[in-house]
Parts: sequence; C-alpha cells; structure tokens
Amino acid sequence: MKFAILNGTIIDRSEAKVDVEDRGYQFGDGVYEVIRVYNGKMFTPEEHMERFVKSSNSIGISLPITTEHITQLLEELIDKNNLQLGTIYMQITRGVAARNHAFPTEETVPSLVAYTKEVGRPAESLKIGVKTILTEDIRWLRCDIKSLNLLGNLLAKQKAAEAGAFEAIQHRGQDVTEGSSSNIYIVKNGTVVTHQSNNLILKGITKDVILDLCLKNNIPVEERTFTLDELALADEVFMSSTTAEVMPIIEIDGKKVRAGLPGPVTINLQELFVKEIEKQCGNL
Ligand code: PMP
Repeated sequence: MKFAILNGTIIDRSEAKVDVEDRGYQFGDGVYEVIRVYNGKMFTPEEHMERFVKSSNSIGISLPITTEHITQLLEELIDKNNLQLGTIYMQITRGVAARNHAFPTEETVPSLVAYTKEVGRPAESLKIGVKTILTEDIRWLRCDIKSLNLLGNLLAKQKAAEAGAFEAIQHRGQDVTEGSSSNIYIVKNGTVVTHQSNNLILKGITKDVILDLCLKNNIPVEERTFTLDELALADEVFMSSTTAEVMPIIEIDGKKVRAGLPGPVTINLQELFVKEIEKQCGNL
C-alpha cells in the first residue's frame, strides 16, 4: 500500500481526495514543489521548502503547518512508501469554497497534499544529450511563482513532444527565458550564461546549486538575459531541473549544437553535480 499526505496527516494514497470545489482544481489557485529523493534522502530540502513558502506567501496563502513539520511528514512518507530513488510532489491550494474568483473568507483552510513517485535518473539522456525546440514564451509575468497554473508551460512542452524533442526553449522576442520545465544555459568561451532570476523565470533550485558549483570551481558565470543569436552561436547549451539534473542539449530546432555532442563544461558540471548529490544523499 502507498501513502500520501493530506492536510498534515499521512493516509492511504487511494483515499487522498479533494473536493470538486477545491480552488486548486477549479482555478489552479495554489503552488507546488517537486523534491528529488536519492537513496531515500531528500536533496536540497531546505531550499525547496523556502521556495514553497515564498511562492505561497506571494499569492497570500499561509502554510497551515510549519515547514519543520512538513519536512518531518515528508521524511515519514518516504519511509512508509519505501522510496529510494524518485520524487516528492507537494502542493498547497487556497482550499475548498463556493466558486468565486475573489479569495474566500479567512477561515477557509488551505489544502496541502504530497505524494511520492519512483523516478530513475535519466542516465542515457545525461550521457548523449537531448533535442529541443524553440517556442515563444506566452506565459504571464510572474514566472518566479511556482504556480499550479502551468498552461503556457504545458502548451510549450506539448509542442516539443509533438516534434519528438525533450524540451521547449522559450523566448520573449529575441530574449531566451527558460525551458517549459527547466532553466537554460549557454557556454561561450568558457563562461556559463543563464537568465537572471527575476519575474520572467523560475529560480531553479538546481540552478542555484550549479551557480554555486561554478563559483567554488572558478567557472566564470554571467547571470543575464541572452539572445536567440547567442544561443545559436553558443559553444555548449544545457538545461537543468530537479529531475533532469544537468542535461546536455545537442539539438535546437533541428540544428546540431557542437556537432551533436555534449561539451566539456557541461560534462564537468555534471560530474560536480553528482558529487554534490553524493555529499548530501550518499553514493549513487
Ligand atoms: N523553470 C521551470 C518553468 C520549471 O518548471 C522548473 C522545474 N521545476 C525549473 C525551471 C527548474 O527548477 P528546479 O531546478 O527547482 O527543478
């Protein structure tokens, strides 16, 4: 039997259900997190918890229990579900109330849900890299909030899927923002360039780990907007996310990057990233 968390209690996964008038279901009125689990241990849990609080506060939802309590419940959930390698999905919504766009009364209790999933590391893709496509970024202007409203991201990812690609690289006009579910990086003359963390992208936890690794290993970094032309002329391109880690990009819209081979800076960062995982969660 598998378990899930519903409003502070661990229950049978098949009984974790919400009301049809839950605002998450009707409006996507909530926020979420995905946390990686390696060897039964969460990777960067504090960072994910901090972003969860930040996202929920930014839309006026207060967590019904403390982050320490949530972390403790998540650890219990990993144990009960016997999860070694996978992810935890966690979301909070504004709760159940009669449908109305304006927020419900203060007494409405937010719905907090979490469950686990077994997910392997994408070993083959990490080695050979992945194909991507370009698509206009049609999302709203608060992409820094990890909102349940993901329609823009879904449409972009579907376009990639239909093209047989792994990810869609989004751009606002000439400026590259981020992937549909990842951050995007170029490498030029040894310098790693990625979009600055502002309202136009999600501040990836993996991105923060990578930038920290660059700093500690004297790899030059520029956090700034870069253009489609810079992307086309890059020496290397890669993406990052909780599930995809440091993923080489070897094709964009049918054009090969670096003749279709992952580059040395990307490979170096992959190795440093694995060491960081092993430091926190034990050998992979
Ligand atoms: N941007 C978007 C739009 C995402 O959905 C994700 C995945 N959560 C990321 C970036 C990467 O964030 P993280 O490294 O925290 O998974």
